[in-house]
Amino acid sequence: MNGTVLIIGAGGVSRVATTKCAMNTDIFKKIVLASRTKAKCDEIANDIKNRQHVEIQTAKVDADSVEELTALIEKVKPDIVLNLALPYQDLTIMDACIKTKTHYIDTANYEHPDVAKFEYKLQWEKDEAFKKAAILGLLGSGFDPGVTNVFCAYAAQNLFDEIHEIDILDCNAGDHGYPFATNFNPEINLREVSAKGRYWEEGKWIETEPVAVKMVWDYPKVGPKDSYLLYHEELESLVKNIKGLKRIRFFMTFGQSYLTHMKCLENVGMLGINEVEHNGVKIVPIQFLKTLLPDPASLGARTKGKTNIGCVISGLKEGKRRKVYIYNVCDHEECYKETLAQAVSYTTGVPAMIGTKLVMEGKWSAHGVFNMEDFDAKPFMDELNKQGLPWEIIEMNPDESFEVK
Ligand code: NDP
Repeated sequence: MNGTVLIIGAGGVSRVATTKCAMNTDIFKKIVLASRTKAKCDEIANDIKNRQHVEIQTAKVDADSVEELTALIEKVKPDIVLNLALPYQDLTIMDACIKTKTHYIDTANYEHPDVAKFEYKLQWEKDEAFKKAAILGLLGSGFDPGVTNVFCAYAAQNLFDEIHEIDILDCNAGDHGYPFATNFNPEINLREVSAKGRYWEEGKWIETEPVAVKMVWDYPKVGPKDSYLLYHEELESLVKNIKGLKRIRFFMTFGQSYLTHMKCLENVGMLGINEVEHNGVKIVPIQFLKTLLPDPASLGARTKGKTNIGCVISGLKEGKRRKVYIYNVCDHEECYKETLAQAVSYTTGVPAMIGTKLVMEGKWSAHGVFNMEDFDAKPFMDELNKQGLPWEIIEMNPDESFEVK
């Protein structure tokens, strides 16, 4: 490895990951940032140059085009491509990596723009091609998926003999002061939240109506928050990879105002993903909505409060019942000070850099397509503590719950 990383996409997550790569120049000797709008790459590169005095090269690329990507990768010759564009670009970027025999890392499951559904199938199917090219494809190196998978792997490898139940709990208690805005790409966020919920129990997937299952969870250092059951992509790989699992669920917090706005927008058709004609122009309602909403990257300066994302894991250790809560708490304003981005981008961009760092250092090494829990969790957990996302573990009484009844 020569220490070159090519980062694709120039949104909030990319801003954090690029800034963090620039804080680890002993590993990342050359950083190239490319996206559809080169001006956004230049803006991030200039901010980093002003604050950290590190030069970032920039380029324009349409990541829907395998040819354009291949030409750029052949020119830059990176060791690793870090995909921080949208989930729609996963397959084209993976194909360009296969063609050029370059390691691939992303933070989000492939989605087709016309189908509001995500699954690993099409990415896992590239395993053979990745093996043949002798490269690693590391899927989902964000926070959730990403760190949540690593927390589960750490528990499986170090804390339990058998894991029976996992609840992933994602709380964003940040306040940006707008009546309605999303903390990451609005199209991806609203498609995820307005979809049916799903969890896995005793070998079966159980479907629930959108945001129909609610509990109040008392998040350490944040407090009690309404939390709703959602389907989330790490459930698919964890069900496959954590042996002996009996149940896994995912909950995310939403305020009442967010849900009321979302319901209204859905009821009037603004979350639609199919084209409609308006005054002779074809538009996709959810994409038009994205144009109207605040850019998530602009929320950083105004967001106050904390996030708490973690996993409550229970099972057996040496024949005795055990339950642990592993989580990270992140402060929006601290994140902004360090990277000019809010905590949702920060908690995704830092693990994206860490996954890339471990592959660059050869600490995580394999040929084929893998999820985060396939690797030794320890080096990743160590890096979280060093790179700005320290974690804590609470040893719980096996009958205890932080659910507020
Ligand atoms: P943004 O929408 O802020 O940024 C996406 C970037 O990708 C934009 O710069 C955009 O370009 C660029 N892009 C889009 N299409 C193309 C294309 N065809 N070619 C080149 N560049 C393109 O998103 P975020 O930064 O919020 O999110 C980035 C990724 O992180 C997403 O995949 C998201 O799902 C994922 N994510 C993962 C999380 C996790 O915990 N695992 C949590 C949060 C997000 P332009 O500027 O021109 O629009």
